Amino acid sequence: MFDFPHDTGWIEVICGPMFSGKTEELIRRLRRAKIAKQRVAIFKAGIDTRYEEDQLVSHSQQKIPSIGVRNAWDILAHAKDADVFGVDEAQFLGIELVEVAAELAGDRKRVIIAGLDTDYRGLPFEPIPQLLAIAEYITKELAICVQCGNPAKFTQRIVESGELILVGANEAYEPRCRRCFRPPDPIYSVKNQLSLTELKK
Ligand code: ZN
Repeated sequence: MFDFPHDTGWIEVICGPMFSGKTEELIRRLRRAKIAKQRVAIFKAGIDTRYEEDQLVSHSQQKIPSIGVRNAWDILAHAKDADVFGVDEAQFLGIELVEVAAELAGDRKRVIIAGLDTDYRGLPFEPIPQLLAIAEYITKELAICVQCGNPAKFTQRIVESGELILVGANEAYEPRCRRCFRPPDPIYSVKNQLSLTELKK
């Protein structure tokens, strides 16, 4: 993948839409670190109880034990426990994760973060955009568009707005390419956001 730096920490980000294999790639990297006899700590935002507690589980049923956390600061409490830190569903941990990741990397830890880079409206989903800016290594995964088979960058919500949606309810979303993606309210589309910015100047 890449040559690891020596005598320093660093940040890796694995981003993309739902169903793009982010968790699977995260598990793959963490497994290899374990095989290399490194101490690994794995965290998952507490809000995601999609599958079993205390495990990262990919859509293809790959599993690895994990610690549920409610906020990014909870991760720092484990700073002494490991050399490699994995974080899944990072979009639920808020902007504080940027500071936590930088602090761990500054403390010579390897930090691997997986999460959605855009939300169901197609807009940048913090904290991933800021993490991309400060990371050494970035992997952008794409899913397959269920409508046309193109590489899919977007997460389409396929239930009516106003309907209650459980976070991580996979049946409420599907991957779509740029051509097939339909944002719920066009006012929120990236194109319109940019033109609104122009108007404000
Ligand atoms: Zn498509």
